[in-house]
Amino acid sequence: MSYINMKCPNCHKKIKIDKKYINNKLNCIYCGKEIILKEIREINTETYLDEVVRFDGAVILNIYNDDCDNCKKLEETLKEINNEYNDLKIVKLNAKENMKLISGFMIRAVPTMILFIDGVQVDMRIGAVDKNAIQRWLSMYNMLPNIF
Ligand SMILES: [Zn+2]
Repeated sequence: MSYINMKCPNCHKKIKIDKKYINNKLNCIYCGKEIILKEIREINTETYLDEVVRFDGAVILNIYNDDCDNCKKLEETLKEINNEYNDLKIVKLNAKENMKLISGFMIRAVPTMILFIDGVQVDMRIGAVDKNAIQRWLSMYNMLPNIF
């Protein structure tokens, strides 16, 4: 079973959201306020500079293909991570539709996650990395989930 562990933005109580309700309208069980979950937006070659390079802060760029099961698995994990870290932005980029941009990253497989901090590429992870491994990876860059 997979949960998103987060703090209510309104009352700051710890809440646990079952992933099967991720696409429903959600309300905090304590204060009743609606919880708006962060989404992983699709970017492309045109929006890459503004969304990633000119962004102040941490960004995971998730490079994927549509016909790739590991990519789907990773995206599910990233949906949780995205909502458990306030100071992290996650965007996705379709490899086949952005070949020229992708070739500059020298990636060997999809999915690949590239971590940018203040527009600088600092690290990369290949494959459907599990949630614990992503959390350990982010902690190397002093990022911790909101609940701590
Ligand atoms: Zn609340």
